[in-house]
This record gives sequence, structure tokens and C-alpha cells, in this order.
Amino acid sequence: MRSVPGARLHFPACPHTCWFRCERVVQHGRYVSRSLAEYAAYLFDMDGTLTYHDQAIPGAARTLQILKEAGKHVLAVTNNSSLGQHALADRFRRFGLPLEDHEVFSALVATARLVAHESPGARVHVFGNPGLRSEIERRGLAVTDGTDADYLVVGNHRGITYDRLTTAMRALQHGARFVTVNMDRTYVGADGDLVPGCGVFAGALEYATGRAPDVVVGKPSITLLCEAASSVNTAAPDCLYVGDNPEADIGGAHAAGMSALLVLTGVASSADQSTEQPEYVLGSVADLAHVFSPT
Ligand SMILES: [Mg+2]
Repeated sequence: MRSVPGARLHFPACPHTCWFRCERVVQHGRYVSRSLAEYAAYLFDMDGTLTYHDQAIPGAARTLQILKEAGKHVLAVTNNSSLGQHALADRFRRFGLPLEDHEVFSALVATARLVAHESPGARVHVFGNPGLRSEIERRGLAVTDGTDADYLVVGNHRGITYDRLTTAMRALQHGARFVTVNMDRTYVGADGDLVPGCGVFAGALEYATGRAPDVVVGKPSITLLCEAASSVNTAAPDCLYVGDNPEADIGGAHAAGMSALLVLTGVASSADQSTEQPEYVLGSVADLAHVFSPT
């Protein structure tokens, strides 16, 4: 096998001797022969893929830059349910990642897009942080603090009170469409320990009303990836999703109709652990740069 300096390359279940530009790897029992360089859009998971413990993965910034110089769409796709698009992009830029606001696509952004697409100008009760409210307003939707809402949208909510929970519950009882940014139980907080995730708030409302959410936008739902692809006007088969979690990322990409690249800088340490076999495996997102710039 020919190799590229600095690249750690892996071929899941490929019985052939081929080098990585050949890309002849197994996809659900059949071979694919598409080069890693041939996709129109590259969608990246954040934690464990582009970042780790609030730092950029070494080489991630260069990979993003090279993709952009090659005229590719790049999107950082995250389940984040707290920060608006600009605040989130700013956070990633502080890590040194060259991402413009429009290149950051969070479940929060996808939620606002989805509601605005389904029902332009709808009245929305926001049960979440100010970032969710501002994103809803930015899409031309009418925020209401009352129970007379077409939609109840749930995000991570640091300002939760008994009164706010009561109003949100009543909005659902009055028939509002129930949309949650994600169903994450927990995530890692600023102190490095776990804190309640958006799913805790949606779960409380589900328990109170006996109604499950009508739409879950974030991963592992495919809504987030489909909205992300739509945001760059690219069909799912022309998107490559890059992630570290075999179940959530690789499974999610396939469910959305996308090809998947597994990197080994987060949850997975080898492709063999994966029940969902990705089309491609690399040691790190940094190795993707070698596909476009071998030196
Ligand atoms: Mg991840």
C-alpha cells in the first residue's frame, strides 16, 4: 500500500491492497470507488473530530483551509442548543478554526430554519436560552411568551423556572407543535463535569403532557444533517460527513443518505468497534488535508 507521510490510514474490511486515493472500501458489502476529494460538501462533527476538550485537533484548521481553497463547502455540524450562530462561530474561531458564521450549522440553527420553512411567520414560544430566541427572531418568526403559540421550541435552558415550565406545558396542552433542538441527556459543562442537556427539558415537558416531541432536530435524528445539506444547496449523496462516533455519526450519515468518514480522535479507536461501517477511515481529520495537498 502506498502511503502519505503523516497520514494514518485504515481500510475497514477491505481485502484488496490499494492506496487511499483508490478508496476501494466496503460499504455495506459492496465496494465504492469514489475519491475522498470528489464530494461537494464536507460536514464535520465537532467534539472528537474538529475539537477535543475545547481545543482544536492538531491539523484541523489546515484541513478546513485546504478544503475551502479547493472550493468545497465546509460545515461544522453540532448538536449545540445554547448559542446562536455568530456566538458559536466566534467560539470555534477562538480555537483557531477558520470558520465563518455561515459555516457553523448547529441544531439550534437547524431548528429555526425548520420552523421558518414549515410555517413562515409562526408564533413560537421559546423554552430555551437567549441564543435560541434570537435565532428564531432572525428567521422572521414571532416570539410569544404566552401559551398562544403555533410552536413550542425547546433548547438548553439556564433560566428555567417553575412558572416558565408551567407556561411551556400549557402551550403544548393548547396544541403547539412540539419541537426540540435535541434530546441530549447531558453534555460536558465549562467545569469539565456533566450538566443537564436539552433532552432533560424536553423530557420534563413530555412527562407533564404525555406528548412526545413532534420533531427532534439534533443528532441522532437525521433532520440536522438534512437541513445542513440543504443550507449549502447540496444533495445528500454529494456530502461527506466526518465524525468520531460510529453510532451517532456514521449511522446518522448513512440514514441521511451521506457517505461517512470515521476519524479516530474521539469515541472510536478503530473501525472494528463499529457496527456501522464507514466508507472511509482516517486517524485524524488532519489526514484529510493530504488528499488535497500531498506535500
Ligand atoms: Mg463527536
